[in-house]
Amino acid sequence: MLVKVLPVGVLSVNCSVLIDESTGKALVVDPGADYEKILKNLEGFELVGILATHGHIDHIGQVRRLKENFHAPFYMHHADLFLLNNTLWPGFEKQIGASLPCPEPDMELEEGMEIKLGNSKLRVLHTPGHTPGSCCLYSEQDKVLIAGDLLFKGSVGRWDLPGGDPTALKMSLRRIFEELEEEVLVVCGHYEETTIGWEKKFNPYLRML
Ligand SMILES: [Zn+2]
Ligand SMILES: [Zn+2]
Repeated sequence: MLVKVLPVGVLSVNCSVLIDESTGKALVVDPGADYEKILKNLEGFELVGILATHGHIDHIGQVRRLKENFHAPFYMHHADLFLLNNTLWPGFEKQIGASLPCPEPDMELEEGMEIKLGNSKLRVLHTPGHTPGSCCLYSEQDKVLIAGDLLFKGSVGRWDLPGGDPTALKMSLRRIFEELEEEVLVVCGHYEETTIGWEKKFNPYLRML
C-alpha cells in the first residue's frame, strides 16, 4: 500500500491518500480542506471510500465534495455524529476551508472492523478520548498507523474540547503503545510523522500513563 500524506488547510491536517498499487484502488482519510490538492493526488486511481478518524470539522471539511464527485461511501464512528456540522464559532468553516454540510456516514467505523482496499486492508481501532468516536486505522502489512488527533510527535491530542475525555484518552494511548511494535510509523492528525518507538523514548506525556 502506498501512503501519501498531504498537509491540508490552515490547520495543516494530514489528509492521507492510501493506494493499493496492484489494483489502483484508493481511500482518502481526513479530507479536511484543499479539495483540488486531494483531487490531484487521486488522479489515475479509483476512490472506493472516504474515512474520517473523527468528526472535527478540520478533518471532514471536504467529505461532501468528494462524495458528490466520486460516489464513494463515507465511514466514521457513530459516537462523533454530534460533531458533524458543529462549528466552534461562526465563520470558522470558511476560515479553515471546509465545505459544509457534511453528509452523515454511510458506514460506521467499529472496533476490529477491517476495511479492504484491493489486496491491502486496514484494521479499525476505536481510540476515544480526543472525541468519543475517534478511531485509528492500522495497516499490519505496512506497519503504518493513521492516528488522527490521538497522538502527536512529542505530544498527545486535546481532551478539553466537547466530548473530550482525559481518562479515555489515557486508556487509548496505553492501548496502542501496548499493542503496536516500535517500528510502526504513525501518521498524526497534524504536523510531523513519528514512530511508536520514538514516542516511547521521548514523549513526556506518556509518563503519565
Ligand atoms: Zn480533532
Ligand atoms: Zn485535528
